[in-house]
Amino acid sequence: MSPVPPASAESPRYYASIDFDALWREFPPAPQFFQSTWMLSPDELRALQNERFLRQMERAWQVPFYRRHWGAHGLEAGDIRSLDDLGAIPPFSVHDLREGTNANPPWMDYIGIDPATDEPVPLILQTSGGTTGLPRPMIFTPRDREVMNIITGRRLYMQGVRPFDLVQVALSMGLTNGGVLAREGIWKYTGAVPVMTGSGAQTPTRRQIEILKAWNVKFLVGFPAYVRHMGLVARDELNIDPRSLGVKGLIVHLGTEDRASLEALWGADVFDTYGCNECGTMAAECHHKSGMHVFEDAFILEVNDPDTLKPKPVGEKGVAVVTTLFKHAAPMIRYNMNDVTALAPGACACGSRHKRITAIYGRSDNMVKLRGVNVFPEAIGSVVSQDARTTGEYVCLLDSGTGGREEMTVQVEVLQAGSERAAVEKDLAVRLKEALGVSIKVEAVERGAVARFTGLTETSKIKRLIDRRPSRSQQ
Ligand SMILES: [Zn+2]
Repeated sequence: MSPVPPASAESPRYYASIDFDALWREFPPAPQFFQSTWMLSPDELRALQNERFLRQMERAWQVPFYRRHWGAHGLEAGDIRSLDDLGAIPPFSVHDLREGTNANPPWMDYIGIDPATDEPVPLILQTSGGTTGLPRPMIFTPRDREVMNIITGRRLYMQGVRPFDLVQVALSMGLTNGGVLAREGIWKYTGAVPVMTGSGAQTPTRRQIEILKAWNVKFLVGFPAYVRHMGLVARDELNIDPRSLGVKGLIVHLGTEDRASLEALWGADVFDTYGCNECGTMAAECHHKSGMHVFEDAFILEVNDPDTLKPKPVGEKGVAVVTTLFKHAAPMIRYNMNDVTALAPGACACGSRHKRITAIYGRSDNMVKLRGVNVFPEAIGSVVSQDARTTGEYVCLLDSGTGGREEMTVQVEVLQAGSERAAVEKDLAVRLKEALGVSIKVEAVERGAVARFTGLTETSKIKRLIDRRPSRSQQ
């Protein structure tokens, strides 16, 4: 085989594949974004979305997954004439993606790129967390990726990141998208410097703290449970008060974790963010922390009833359904994320009219029905982390009890061994009953004991629910 390719085969070049000036006019990076698109009126924003939505639909019709999925529901191209028709498009969920044709992996039918016929462009492949079987591949074109990077930059700017700040990213670097995407966005669109310590398996927690201290890191990006763990290791094992470290912001997917205790531990603002592997950051809090603004020039976010998928009124909980307005590879049209959230009422003090979501309360497919009551493991975590006698670490163990009814036991780590355990068990059982309306058994365990279930220091994908009922696969 000849090592030299034929002269006709050009290697595609990243910078030549994008018209950057046009891209930046369309999706302004920070800080320009905050003087332009960010301040559009709802009508102006709607008009911008409508135009981008129709272009995105045109692209989606070229993707085999949508031709198949929509075809099966009798949808035709002419049925969708504007954004007002969005509700007529059948949604899909991750289960539909998993069932996609695997004829030529990783070129799944939802991606819409065919190496046999498409012009080559520089591509990047990242995946879902993949708890069972192979992870789900997602491929990004240069333009798709740059839009996601611009949005990461906007988010961080909004939360106070400035040039020359060091931003430590305690997210796995590998197949999953989070860490890699954070690095690209910080590096290309903030002027700040990413410090890629990765998960606790890549850089041990004590070393993470030593680096943070020695290099005067200003922002920390990570999962809240791990950021809390880092703070406790600093305080209790290294004798370093996290509040003395000068960290200004903790950038996390907060969910229902307790903000106040995390802010108190670090003496830093906590900013909530919502994103996914397929789309990057979709929504983030501004410095007013009054809900996460959706980046509406790039996404349409619906909050819908989980059963009917009809829109929920402002303030009522439903599932997040996302439509992208920029993706060439794997455009997402009415992607039911199964994440439970609500639209935030009123206007934000920052003046932007970009709509806001309150919080992510849990994944609807992680929900457990206990004696008729819907329980999210995340809501249990919220109660646990408010108790200062615990580390905030917990795991929910689901078993079948007598008579076949589900029994849940929550194992909670306590800071002090011994006499406090019984009191913590009793108090938390009462608090959980109050908060969730159902009795849950609480078992206090020693510090570090639940990590074997959750994978806290090993992975970014922390498990909070272990289903031990017979014939159930683990979540
Ligand atoms: Zn705001």
